[in-house]
Amino acid sequence: MKVFRQLMWYFKQEKLRYIGGIAMLALVSLGLLVPPKMVGLIVDHIKEGTLTDKLLWQYGGLLITIAVGIYVLRYIWRILIFGAAVKLAMLLRNRLYEHFTKKSQEFYQKRRVGDLMAHSTNDLQAIQQTAGDGVLTLVDSLMMGGFTLIAMASTISWKLTLVSLLPLPVMAWATNKYGTMLHKRFHSAQEAFSTLNDKVQESISGTRVIKAFGQEEEDIHSFTALSKDAVKKNMAVARIDSLFDPTISLIIGFSFFLAVSYGSSLVIKNELTIGELVSFTSYLGLLIWPMLAFGWLFNIVERGRASYDRIETLLAVEEEIDDDGLINTIPRGKIDFQLEEFCYSAGTRVLKDINFTLEKGQTLGVVGRTGSGKTTLCRLLLREYHIKRDDIVIDGKDICDYRLDALRAAIGYVPQDHFLFSATIAENIAFAKISSPFPDIKDAAETASIHKDIAQFKYGYETVVGERGVTLSGGQKQRISIARALLMDPEILILDDSLSAVDAKTEEEILQKLKRKRQNKTTIITAHRLSSIAHCDLIIVMDDGSIIQSGTHQSLLCEEGWYKETYERQALETLIAQGGGNR
Ligand code: ADP
Repeated sequence: MKVFRQLMWYFKQEKLRYIGGIAMLALVSLGLLVPPKMVGLIVDHIKEGTLTDKLLWQYGGLLITIAVGIYVLRYIWRILIFGAAVKLAMLLRNRLYEHFTKKSQEFYQKRRVGDLMAHSTNDLQAIQQTAGDGVLTLVDSLMMGGFTLIAMASTISWKLTLVSLLPLPVMAWATNKYGTMLHKRFHSAQEAFSTLNDKVQESISGTRVIKAFGQEEEDIHSFTALSKDAVKKNMAVARIDSLFDPTISLIIGFSFFLAVSYGSSLVIKNELTIGELVSFTSYLGLLIWPMLAFGWLFNIVERGRASYDRIETLLAVEEEIDDDGLINTIPRGKIDFQLEEFCYSAGTRVLKDINFTLEKGQTLGVVGRTGSGKTTLCRLLLREYHIKRDDIVIDGKDICDYRLDALRAAIGYVPQDHFLFSATIAENIAFAKISSPFPDIKDAAETASIHKDIAQFKYGYETVVGERGVTLSGGQKQRISIARALLMDPEILILDDSLSAVDAKTEEEILQKLKRKRQNKTTIITAHRLSSIAHCDLIIVMDDGSIIQSGTHQSLLCEEGWYKETYERQALETLIAQGGGNR
């Protein structure tokens, strides 16, 4: 029953609903005790020939009044208790969602999306059931069971009650044993569901790759294997689950046997009337539900506990990035990097001795081989990972002294793996500034050289992209992502290899427009094509996490080294490509 303790905060919060609901359940339980007693009295009146029409009408009237009362009360408690349970699920779902949105990159790197989805669906459902059916079964098994027992013992015969209940300890033992087994099995069934969820999510998002490599069969095989595993583990749960009811029915059967045989002997000995025996067996019938509820309670509580533990563990994951900076003003853009080293949590050093200063309004170009640390450098500016104090200083203040939201509001980051939502192009561009007027959206699109493409679509800016709409080319998506960042008009704009999928001419066009637009603002561009960064005020060349060269395009061309070699090679490649095109 630990889960009820864990949920106590919520029961307290919704105490009126729960107290009201439980009071009504109590009234229903009391109401249900009346008909068996009345049937017994009527039987005795019949036997003694004392039943009059008036008496029969009185009994009948009372029975109907009780039935109607129970109907109303049952309707209301369901709304109160089940309503509270739905509210709890909503509360936890919102809490979980808020938690997910605040988590850093590292959190998502360590976890699988399918698993997170499973938490938000199956686990929440199990907790909702605990706060609804769990409370119902707890109250009903204790209260209705208790009231019935009291009625049996005090109004009929305590001896008969004791004898009839002899098989009960067996039931307590069995349900306890099943409960423990269920807990383990349910946990592993939920894990299997998470894995299956993850597989579905991955296969659907990677469907193009799967098809392109002709891996459909293999994918189906691995899905089937996971699906079978999930079924196997759920069947293991169901096997225990299905033991509860038959076990309880069997035990009740024994109780009936004892009640009827011992009860008849009491009737013969005149210690009990026939009417009382009839009432007693009806009460025993009334005990079936509380006992079933008791078994079911174990089942629900075990599931609820497993799920609540999973959700709590997830919610307890602390933010890796401290957001305790106090500066609320948006940083203006002078950047000082004095980074000795940076490692991801995996431990290997990714950046070493990165020292440079970028004045406000300047443009920085970052080039180097793939894996040399360009993206890491950009992401550190967004504080997506933990860094030491004074590693990065913006406007003379440590980056950690800014509030995270102020810092991120100052930076427009266009990542390599751009993401467009299933919404219209206009909504995608205005993602970070939802209320932007249309001319601003269009202006951003023009600067990103995507306006002409959009104008050609039938619905223009209202065209829906993504799963439900048009499929855009990689270059178009890149430019929409750039427009999205430009619309923010950020103090610092970071284009992280964001021009890789556009052709050289369009690239040149975008760079020219950017130069004009962002005259007084800081811009960082990482690229493979050196033409993308040739205009920059400062260029740094990275290799294996360190800066191996730095300067301007002109100064770097005068030095022997990676920059000059790469520039000459790329110039030659362009020449060959053009020559090939002219032939
Ligand atoms: P670039 O942008 O120059 O291609 P990256 O900054 O992406 O380089 O990567 C630099 C190095 O850091 C690579 O060795 C890469 O494997 C490693 N790396 C990148 N992201 C992570 C991460 N999230 N966790 C651990 N290592 C990472």
